[in-house]
Amino acid sequence: MSVNDKLLKTRFLVDSGTPHIKVDHSVCAECRDEPCLVICPVECYKKEQQKVTFSWENCVECGSCRVVCSKGAVSWDYPRGGFGVCFRFG
Ligand code: SF4
Ligand code: SF4
Repeated sequence: MSVNDKLLKTRFLVDSGTPHIKVDHSVCAECRDEPCLVICPVECYKKEQQKVTFSWENCVECGSCRVVCSKGAVSWDYPRGGFGVCFRFG
């Protein structure tokens, strides 16, 4: 089973308006290597009009972006209880 197939078996309960990850885009503006763009398995990070954008709703809580961002732009936490991703659903 491919990674994408496995990811399709996840389910999300989004805690609307309460992002569990926050990104300081002023730091991103100075970032040259942008590893978050390739490490996130669900493409929460994208580059649009020469800027790195972030959307947290599909996050599978792997923590990779926090590890690879050496500049401290990522403030990462788990979602509140009952929210977030459910693995192996369906
Ligand atoms: S690695 Fe960190 S600083 Fe660089 S673009 Fe990604 S989140 Fe921003
Ligand atoms: S924690 Fe993982 S899935 Fe969530 S935004 Fe970071 S890299 Fe992507």
